[in-house]
Amino acid sequence: MAETSTQTFEFKAEIQQLLHILSHSLYTHREIFIRELISNAADALDKARFKTIKGEPIVDSDLEFAIWIDVDESKKTFTIRDSGIGMSQEELVKNIGTIAHSGTSEFLKQMAVQQDAGLNLIGRFGVGFYSVFMVAERVELTSRSAEAAQPAHVWSSDGQGAYDIQPADEAPRGTTVKVFLREDAQEFCQKQRVESLIKKYSNFVPFPIRVNGEQINKISAIWREPKAQVSEEQYNEFFKFIAVESENPLTWLHFSADAPIQFHALLFVPSSSRESLGFGHDEEGMQLFVRRVLVDHHAKDILPDYLRFVRGVLDSDDLPLNISRETLQENPHLLKIKNTLVAKFLSHLQELARTDEAKYLEIWRQHGRVLKEGYADFTQREKLAELLRFNSSKSADEKELISLQTYVERMPEKQAEIYYLSGPTRETVSRNPILEIFKAKEIEVLYCYEPIDEFALPGMMEYKGKKFKSADQADVKTLNDLPDKTAEKPAADYDKKDMDRLARRIKDILGDKVEDVRVSERLVDSPALLVGTDSFMSSQMQRIMMHMQHQVELPKRNLEINPRHPLLRNMEQIYRQDPQDPFLTQLALRLFDSAQWVDGYVGDPLATATGLQELLQQVADMYVKRGK
Ligand code: ADP
Repeated sequence: MAETSTQTFEFKAEIQQLLHILSHSLYTHREIFIRELISNAADALDKARFKTIKGEPIVDSDLEFAIWIDVDESKKTFTIRDSGIGMSQEELVKNIGTIAHSGTSEFLKQMAVQQDAGLNLIGRFGVGFYSVFMVAERVELTSRSAEAAQPAHVWSSDGQGAYDIQPADEAPRGTTVKVFLREDAQEFCQKQRVESLIKKYSNFVPFPIRVNGEQINKISAIWREPKAQVSEEQYNEFFKFIAVESENPLTWLHFSADAPIQFHALLFVPSSSRESLGFGHDEEGMQLFVRRVLVDHHAKDILPDYLRFVRGVLDSDDLPLNISRETLQENPHLLKIKNTLVAKFLSHLQELARTDEAKYLEIWRQHGRVLKEGYADFTQREKLAELLRFNSSKSADEKELISLQTYVERMPEKQAEIYYLSGPTRETVSRNPILEIFKAKEIEVLYCYEPIDEFALPGMMEYKGKKFKSADQADVKTLNDLPDKTAEKPAADYDKKDMDRLARRIKDILGDKVEDVRVSERLVDSPALLVGTDSFMSSQMQRIMMHMQHQVELPKRNLEINPRHPLLRNMEQIYRQDPQDPFLTQLALRLFDSAQWVDGYVGDPLATATGLQELLQQVADMYVKRGK
């Protein structure tokens, strides 16, 4: 005989916060509570079925795996029952009251930032079981674990901070959630309304869903059907179901293989990236089925991490069902399937880039950042290289993107390397004086705006035999050997020896601030430029490394001075009259400061400002003395 005492528990703080938001939420998103409850029921059924397949005993073993929904307009209730894995008393307390749904803390964070966006997010990502409190006055959840010898319990709450748990007399295996609907949520006890919502959100749930006795969903494994028999509409619907998305996918790939390993796969590319919406590292998006049975919702190792934006299904008859998920990952069959899938999928994207460029560019804009992480996958390097897109110095604006193939086709015959330069925006990159010589020679430079590029490009080594080279590491002699395209550089009517002398004096003045001072072979318009001394790392890469290692100081650089620039020619004149002239010192220091700014780095702002003010003072003095 079960004890009859009722225990009261408080919801964890984070859940209370969530419940508060939900009970005050907009009407338009409330309907998704049905999707959330059905998805919990389906998960519970999957777990129970998985247990029986492994040969483990479960309670009420002859009970059909299904979902029953009953709506009652007179009693204003919505009841959903499943014959799934159920929960013991302990699990009830832990799962419903203590542990928040996986997306909850992110959801709350987003809510704090932007109220409206947060409410949309309820619809998009769901907040699990608690969404029921958008429509419920009170909820009664009765559960009986599939484990033998666990008594049934009733969990009940009005969602206001606390919940009760008490023993239940008798219940079949699984969970029943009875929702007492709020006055303003009566639509959810209308059979027709509920049926249309099931068709909208849960049509592909692989268990029968019966509303007041009548089965509503289709239960078809569309990935096992021949492609010709699946309509575009069905693919779209199926995608929205498995990915929990409201938009159609950008593309999909459906294929089956028989030999050497039998499998069916259906892969989709979502129209937006969760990572760029600020949801952190995406979860694995592939569901693994073995002989139609769902084994893992977020299966690792079906696709590599750089394809984590892909959503889909893999189903194979050649994988063993009765082994744990962990050992499944080491399965040699799965490894072979993975290789085939990746190669096929990348080829599919390549094909799309050829046949529907606009569509491919949409995919690239959404998911390119993640895809680039594939640079370390040597087996797919060539395919991935074809998929990369870049903004370049020859693009009309930051939106225009080109492929490496286009870059190589446009290269002048004598150019041997593919040049790129990193920076946060097109503005900053295109103004970098490093590019002056490239502009003069009309050599195209790829503009890279993401830190990953600094690893991806050198990591990929080369494309069609052309090495990737950061523009600041380019060999200036090689560049200079290429013919000038734009107006001729001003004639080199300076004495190299004089300029070298000036360079040595500037090095004396700057001391440790720079590694060396050199007469530049590459500058056209700017007076000076800082360049890295490391032939291995580009300066952007050094900055990233510096960031990672929490170094405050930039590695030392060489200062290059432009011998054709009037400022440097004037400085050379001053030097000639008096190498120790304090004004020359001022100019050298300020020139260095300005080169640092161009390089995106402000050393000591206070010292720099003071120095600049001193210089202004000297210039003003001279101006006045000259007598206006
Ligand atoms: P999530 O489904 O993301 O884990 P929920 O808040 O919806 O978050 O549910 C929390 C947990 O409660 C689930 O992980 C599951 O363990 C348990 N649960 C919810 N509904 C059911 C059910 N119908 N049957 C068995 N367990 C359930």
